[in-house]
Formats: sequence, structure tokens, C-alpha cells
Amino acid sequence: MAQYLAIKEQHPDCLLFFRMGDFYELFFDDAGKASETLGIALTKRGKHLGEDIPMCGVPVHAAEDYLERLIRAGHRVAVCEQTEDPAEAKKRGAKSVVQRAVIRLVTPGTLTEDSLLQSKRHNYLAALTRLRGKGELALAWIDISTGDFACCQVSAETLGAELARLEPGEIVLADNLLADEALAETLRIQKAPLTPLPASRFDSTNGEKRLKAHFAVGALDGFGAFSRAEIAACGALLDYIMLTQVGRLPLIRPPSQRQQCDVMLIDAATRINLELVKTTTGERRGSLLDSIDRTLTSAGGRLLAERLAAPLTQPGAINDRLDAIAFFLDFERMRSDIRACLKAAPDFARALARLTVGRGGPRDLAAISAGLRAAAEIRGLLAQDTGLVEKPAEIARLMASLERDDGALAQTLAQTLADDLPLLARDGGFVRAGVVVELDEQLRLRDQSRQVIAGLQSRYADETGVRSLKIRHNNVLGYFIEVSAQHGDRLTVARFGGRFIHRQTLANAMRFTTVELADLESQIAKAGERALAIELEIYADLLARVTAQSEMISEIADVLAALDVATALAQLAEDERFVRPQVDTSRAFNIVQGRHPVVERALRQAGEGGFVPNDCDLSADREGRPGRHIWLITGPNMAGKSTFLRQNALIAILAQMGSYVPAASAHIGIVDRLFSRVGAADDLARGRSTFMVEMVETATILNQASERSLVILDEIGRGTATFDGLSIAWACVEHLHEVNRCRALFATHFHELTALADRLERLANATMKVREFHGELVFLHEVGPGAADRSYGIQVAKLAGLPAAVIERAGEVLHLLEQSEQASSRRELVDDLPLFAAARPPSAAPMAMREAMGPSQVELALAEIEPDDLSPREALDLLYRLKAIISA
Ligand code: ATP
Repeated sequence: MAQYLAIKEQHPDCLLFFRMGDFYELFFDDAGKASETLGIALTKRGKHLGEDIPMCGVPVHAAEDYLERLIRAGHRVAVCEQTEDPAEAKKRGAKSVVQRAVIRLVTPGTLTEDSLLQSKRHNYLAALTRLRGKGELALAWIDISTGDFACCQVSAETLGAELARLEPGEIVLADNLLADEALAETLRIQKAPLTPLPASRFDSTNGEKRLKAHFAVGALDGFGAFSRAEIAACGALLDYIMLTQVGRLPLIRPPSQRQQCDVMLIDAATRINLELVKTTTGERRGSLLDSIDRTLTSAGGRLLAERLAAPLTQPGAINDRLDAIAFFLDFERMRSDIRACLKAAPDFARALARLTVGRGGPRDLAAISAGLRAAAEIRGLLAQDTGLVEKPAEIARLMASLERDDGALAQTLAQTLADDLPLLARDGGFVRAGVVVELDEQLRLRDQSRQVIAGLQSRYADETGVRSLKIRHNNVLGYFIEVSAQHGDRLTVARFGGRFIHRQTLANAMRFTTVELADLESQIAKAGERALAIELEIYADLLARVTAQSEMISEIADVLAALDVATALAQLAEDERFVRPQVDTSRAFNIVQGRHPVVERALRQAGEGGFVPNDCDLSADREGRPGRHIWLITGPNMAGKSTFLRQNALIAILAQMGSYVPAASAHIGIVDRLFSRVGAADDLARGRSTFMVEMVETATILNQASERSLVILDEIGRGTATFDGLSIAWACVEHLHEVNRCRALFATHFHELTALADRLERLANATMKVREFHGELVFLHEVGPGAADRSYGIQVAKLAGLPAAVIERAGEVLHLLEQSEQASSRRELVDDLPLFAAARPPSAAPMAMREAMGPSQVELALAEIEPDDLSPREALDLLYRLKAIISA
């Protein structure tokens, strides 16, 4: 208990997995928490200060499964192992305690086990720092299971978008940062597990020292011109890894510095709304990623997801990627051969990481061997003659990396490792026969002795005349001779001269041994032990070779991932008829016959009619003349407005991640930020109504969108009264046109807005076409110029099955409302309103409502009279009467 308490004191924030023989035991509060989360029995063991000690435990062999559940439930676990052989401890005295130490802290951001990770997703550990006084923020992140390490500077404004892109499994940060309300709110939205640490761990001077020591360099300049905040973040991350891995550092590559302007910024809400890597319900199925993923390896899957989450903003880099796809579209045979090799390649980046932190096994070595061999084969395929076609720069770069491997390591591994491999090195049996003479000898000795033992059984049966005599083995007695109880006496009789030595008497059986059997057994044990020792030496040697070349291996793993992505995107382009987008620094946005990849696939799978492609031209410059870069889209519900909006955003993302796009042609000038406001749900947890969420998102767009941004707005102002909503939408369109000047699609039901196109020269109206056929609505899903004449909301409500009486009554009310609306009111609105003026007082609506309620008494009285028939006296009387009605 003293040992337990001393260790537990070092790790108060973790559940302590305390190794005792074949179990990890948990005590006190830890036991309560674990038994509750895992649903395992809570028992007790011994007493502490006179109280029972609560305890629960999990078997070591099944620990991973339990670990996963604890981590998912938000716990951190410190794994404490026995660090010496119990036999050694006994030498110090019968009552001495086996030495134990924590060998690892398991936290959500520091996992390496395949069973705890999703194969096609990165699991990032991130560190967030802010320099005291300066307010400069930096973010560093690493995937421990692959060693990818990077950092960038962020602003309070863009932090949310960066975190939404990375989706870190854990964020470490200085505890005092959480005092900043706005920052804490941004982090809360991300829902990532936070690990606050003392601010002293984020010191940039110490961080720099640590980084220099780790990468064995005198200056960090070779890796990038890092800011102090970035150094502090990277240093803190390294420190945290040392802390959790207890000194056994995984492969960590030098940090690469990312510039925020290098990637298209997409905020969290937009990512969710566009369902880029997961759907709004959190599933991968049905997301854009799912529909475009043709990768064959886990690492390729991770890279594709990473690229989709971070589209580029440099046409050069984008075109390099596109060139590689074009190449693999041309050389189809090479593509399919490479893909056949990739299919056989294991996830050796993660195998390497496990090996370097000492959590690997023979199967991980085999994975590296198989990975490197696949790479060598692919190198041969890429080297094939391509005639007059020059290999694109991207492919040439990948080929140069593949040259780094001379094949020796893979050959050694393949020659040394057996075909069937155990999970752990200590299980033995992983070295191929014929590799090490002494090992083979020891194994032969062991196996021969086993055979001799098998022979002994029939000899003893003959000699004793007990036909049912058996030689068996268990862990307590080792080998023994067993006969049934009734035959037991025969073996003890003097005629065998005491050869059979009694070991154990059970209810139905008696057990014996012989000197001969004991000798053989000890031979087997010795040979086995020696064989295992030799195997472990070989393992250590192989591990050392792998570790020495870890950098090369991880580079090769990256190359295969990149080739997987390039060939997969080529395959996708071919299967789905995607085309190469033209990407440059202009402010063009001209999509011809664009399609929504996910909706198109869903329609196809459902066997419904084909997807109707649509054009979208938001180009801001047309040969020197301003283009109509804001489109106002009207049309009935269900006509396909949302689909059209989203498909254009997705095409921009696909193009800038370096993929072909679902269109007949596409010309896209780099989009620096993508904003969207599509669909809203209330966020009651944060005390925000649907309308409030909508307005917060709209505010972000109007405050931040630049001339280079792309903005997708679906319905603004519908969550409030009609005239409030219309006025807000109106002002937003004007602001986008005059101030933001971005490319934008604005879908709306406020037909009044379409009149703005007459006055705003860079605004165009577009509408979703529908046809009415025998009173029924037919959606054509076609976008054309012009404005919708009306909303058709009632027809759609009818389609949805609203009761006939409600539909009929709604028709009547609508009729009255439309009649009351002065035909000139829209025009007036446009003419009277200077830009950004407040909306007119809503006079038309109350009038319309009054009409809907029926004529008033004054109106009835007026209706009765004929002015020409009245004498002056009668007219005066009538005026008195009307006044009396009103005052009544
Ligand atoms: P609401 O205003 O109610 O949100 P909407 O006009 O935004 O409706 P969408 O949600 O985009 O309509 O589309 C409705 C359905 O129409 C989609 O689920 C899809 O099945 C179909 N659809 C949309 N666009 C197309 C298209 N271009 N070709 C074929 N079908 C389409």
C-alpha cells in the first residue's frame, strides 16, 4: 500500500493501473470510477487506516479494450508495471515488494495502439500557447502514431477554424489561458478534451532548449523561422510527450511551420454544414470524404482526410497535385499496378511509431518489411518508360524519396521473420528456421525431448500394464504421469523400485513423475529459455536497425500515402467523370455543369432520376469589366437551392485540395476563406436560440469575408418576423455587395430582394425552375437567370401531407395578403431606400391583416352611401355618425 500510495501521489489526475501479476488493479476512488465506467465488479482487499480498500481489476491480456473505454469516457490512465522479476524481489527477502514504476500515461492525444485509433483518421495532440503580454497565440500539433509535427500562429479569430480542421484528440494548454472567457468559449465549442498544465511548462526559452536537444541542432532556423509563441507551443508538446511516454519518445519529425494563409480557412460551422469529413450526425458515411475516398491504405485515407480538411491557397502547389492525377489518368496501367501493390501494404507508419516507443512486436516488424517491399515494387513501376511524357514534378519528388531505401532492411526482416508471427516478442517463435544455427539447435533439442516424452507414455504403459496411463502437462506440476485412482497402487509397488515418484492424489487420479521425465522436462525448459533468449536478442537487433532508419521508413510511408491519394483521386475522376479545374489567382468562379457529388451518388443508389447539372458563374472580373459575383437565388422549397449552394462550395474545396471536380469545366480563382450559413439549429446548451445562432454566423461572415472569399448564405432572416427578416437580408446583400465584395450565393424566399438586381450592378438573380402540371408542382432542379414569381410554399406543404382544410385556408389567406400588397411597394422600397437605410415601417402587413379579418363598421357605413346622392346637410350628419362609430 505504501508503494501504491507513493506512486498514486505522483499521478493524482490519472486512474492508476497497478500491475499485480496477471491483472492491473485499481484501488480507492480509482476503483469506484473504473468499475462504474467499465461495468465491472467492485470488490475490496485489505484495510487502510482501518477501512476496507475498494478494488477492481482488469486482466492484462484484455487491458487495451478497457483502456479504450476509459479514455473515451474522458479518463486518463497511468500504467504502472512491475519493473523487476518477482524472483529477484524474493532474493531480497521473502516479504520484499516487487519494484514498480509508471511506464506510460495514456491520454486521448497520445495513443499508438491500432485498437484505440481509427485507421483512416489522424489523432492529433495539440498545444496552445499565448505569449505573456503580447497576446500572440500559437498552436502546435503532432500525431504521435505517425510522428507528423507542425505548428502555426493563430489569432483569436481564426483559432476556431484551425481547431475545427485538426479536430485534436487532446489540447494541452497553460491553465491560466482558460481565464480568458472568449478563448475558453472557442475551446468549449471544439469539445476536445483539455489538459491544463502549469504555465511554467510553456516557457519559450526552455522549449527552445528542449527542441534543440531533441533534434540535436544548435539552432532551429533550419526547420523554419518560428515565432516565440510557436517555439513555446512546440516545446510544451515535446515536454508533454516525454511526460506521458515516461522518457520513451516516439519518432518525432522536426516541426514544420504552417502559414495560415497557406490553407483555405473554413470555420467549424461551415465544416459541419457542408458535411466535409462527417455528417451533421457525426458519421463518416454520407460525408463528402466518404463519397470521394478511393484510397486503399489507412495512411492514404488519413492523408486524403487531411487534404480535404485543409485545401491549399497556392495555385502552384495545387497544380502539382493535379498534375500527378493527370499523369495517373493517362497511365492507367501503371495506376492499376501501383494500386494492386498498395492494397497489400500495411499501415507501417503506425507500426513504426509503436516500435519506437517500445510497444511494438514482431508483427510490426513484418509490417515494415512488407511496406518497404511494396514501396520497392512501386518504385520499379514508376520507373517505367513513359515515352515522350515527362513525369510531373510531384511524381519525380516521390520517386526521389523512394530511392532512399536500399532494400537491405526489408530483406533482412523478411529473411529473419517467420511466416506466422506472435503478437509479442516475449511469446517467441518469430524467427524463421534456418536463420540462426544455435536457435535451431535449441528448438530441435526442445522438440526432440517432447517427442521422447511422447514415446515414454507408451513405454510406461507397457511396463506398468496400465493402458490408460497418460503423460500430461500443467503449469503447476510441469510434466507428470497420470493414472486413474484404482491403478495408482500398481505404480507405487516395490517392483518398480520406487521409480515412480508420487506427486499428487486427486479424487479420481494419481500423479507421478520419474527422474527420466524430470530430466527431459528440464532439458525442454532450458532449451526453451535459451531459444527465447536468442530470439529476444535477434528482436532487439532488428528493432535497433529499424529505429536507426526510422526517418527513412517514415518518409517512404509518406510517399506511399501520397501515391495512394494521387491514384485514388485519378480513379475517382475516371469513375465519376470529374474534370481538372483551372485554378489561378484570378477572382473567377465559373463552374459549367457542376454536380453535388454526394447527392448525385445518393440519387444513383436510390435508383431515382439522374442529377441535373447546373452552371454557376460568380466571376468577379470579366475581361476588365466587373462581373456579377453575387447571385441571389429564389425558388420554391425542395427545388434544390441548398444543393446548388453546397455543390459550388464543395467544388471549390475539391479544386483547392488538389482534386478533379464534378463538373464539365471549372475555373476557380483562389478562395482564401469559405463561409457558409446554411441551416441552423438552436444551441440551447449555450443559451442561443436558432435565430441567435443564425445572426452570430451572419455577423462572422459580414465582419470577416474578404474580396477573395466565397460565401454561401442559405436563407437569412427567416427566424424572425417577416419584415425584420426581410430588412436584415436586404442590408446583408447590400453589405456583401458594397463592403465585402466577395463571391457569394445567397438563397432567399424574400422575393422583394430580387428587385435589388436593378440597382446593384454586381448582383444577378437566378432561380430554380419549376413547372406546374395539373395543379401539381414539378421540380426541374435547373438553375436559370431571373427571379421566381412566387414561393409555392403551399404546394410543397401539400406534398408534405398537411391536412386539406389547412391547405385550403392557407390558400385563402395568401390570396388576401397578395391582393393587399400594393403592386408598387417593391419598386418603392428600392427607389426610396438609400443604401444601408433602415427598413420602412411595416405598413402593408397590418393593412393586409385587417383585410383578412373583414370590413370594419366604418367601412360598412361608407359602403352604403352614394356621395352624389347626398345633400350637404346629409353629408354633415354622416360625418358625425362616422365619428360616433369610431369614438364608440
Ligand atoms: P428547402 O428550401 O426546403 O431547404 P431546397 O430548395 O434547398 O429546399 P434541396 O434541399 O437543395 O432543396 O433539394 C431537395 C431535394 O431535391 C434533394 O434532396 C435532392 O434529392 C433533389 N435535388 C436537388 N438538386 C437536384 C439536382 N440538381 N438534380 C436532381 N435532384 C436534385
